[in-house]
Amino acid sequence: MRCQWCESVNVIETTNTVYWELPDGTKAIEIIETPCVECQDCSIAYQTDATVTAIEEQLFLIDTKRLEKTITYGQLLQQPRLLKRNYFDFSV
Ligand SMILES: [Zn+2]
Repeated sequence: MRCQWCESVNVIETTNTVYWELPDGTKAIEIIETPCVECQDCSIAYQTDATVTAIEEQLFLIDTKRLEKTITYGQLLQQPRLLKRNYFDFSV
């Protein structure tokens, strides 16, 4: 693995706190203990595409109105997902 910015190989996997805007744009939440990659050379910390996708997908599929303003990454991914409206309802 290399740093996305300076291509250094001195990167470590750790966690940090990120602020994420909800898909409907109503507010931002604080997600703590989020997996990130930290570069020892340029000191940047960033989320990999896989982590970003996991967060975005989860926020899209859960009831974000019930979220606290601060949540851990693990708690966020454990939130029950809602089925999209009538998606599996073929009786109508
Ligand atoms: Zn770097």
